[in-house]
Amino acid sequence: MIRNPIPWPNGARCAVCFSFDVDADSTIHHGFPKDADNRLHSTSLLRYDTEVGVPRIVDLLNRHKLPGTFFVPGWVIERYPAAVETILKGGHELGHHGYLHHNPVNLSAAEEEDAIGRGIEAVVKASGKRPRGYRAPSWGVSRNTIRFLIEEGFDYESSLFGDDIPYLLTYGGNRTLVEIPTAHGLDDWPHYMNWRDFDYMLPISSPQRAHEVFRSEFDAAWTHGGLWVCVWHPPVSGRLARAMAIEDLIAHMRGRGNVWFATLEEISAHVRKVIASGQWKPRIDTLPITTDRSPS
Ligand SMILES: [Zn+2]
Repeated sequence: MIRNPIPWPNGARCAVCFSFDVDADSTIHHGFPKDADNRLHSTSLLRYDTEVGVPRIVDLLNRHKLPGTFFVPGWVIERYPAAVETILKGGHELGHHGYLHHNPVNLSAAEEEDAIGRGIEAVVKASGKRPRGYRAPSWGVSRNTIRFLIEEGFDYESSLFGDDIPYLLTYGGNRTLVEIPTAHGLDDWPHYMNWRDFDYMLPISSPQRAHEVFRSEFDAAWTHGGLWVCVWHPPVSGRLARAMAIEDLIAHMRGRGNVWFATLEEISAHVRKVIASGQWKPRIDTLPITTDRSPS
């Protein structure tokens, strides 16, 4: 069903990346700048991220000898160094996730560029190297985001939903960004979050129901040579019952066999390798998307 399947390493049936966005309480600070300190309930939920969720998730990945990619806003990196150290000590990838988690679609070009720059600085300071990959806060990929990322020398981006397998993005020049797409069903928020402060009032799924969706996406990727990239949040999927369901999913994936577990950085490097060797020809999306209107 995938028209142009990519050859995965060692003939693997599909690629899997466990990716996490570690927003902590950045969202409450930009959502409610005047009275964030008066919203202790939300703050407690959000700080479960760095205090409980990250150590639990990293421990889980380490026990299963699985790599992970963690996208962390610069402000969170600066404020919670112990959580970042836990991620890095586990050998996992640290990716860029904005600065204070403002949605770039609501920022001016200058503000977005500033957030990207400050996020890079924070990653470099914590890890000693520039981030290779980016995930937009709140899925907010603006008209400028891809151009900024290419100019800053990023290797890949993982916020778009445009395909089942990686593809390339260009912005009118020769340089490209690897897009490693995911899907809304692989985000844990729509399954689990019910949060009045942010008007996010969906019914809460059982872990079994949420994992029915995660698992069916994996089974389809495995069958058709696709890609499975979850977008999970440690204070959401790191809760006890949900973390237990992750262990079951890992057992299911291992049971299927012939799965390539990788970081997004590794997937991006592989994409570039098979393109350079001529083994695979990617789809290329050229930006910007035209704003021309057809005559009415
Ligand atoms: Zn986020």
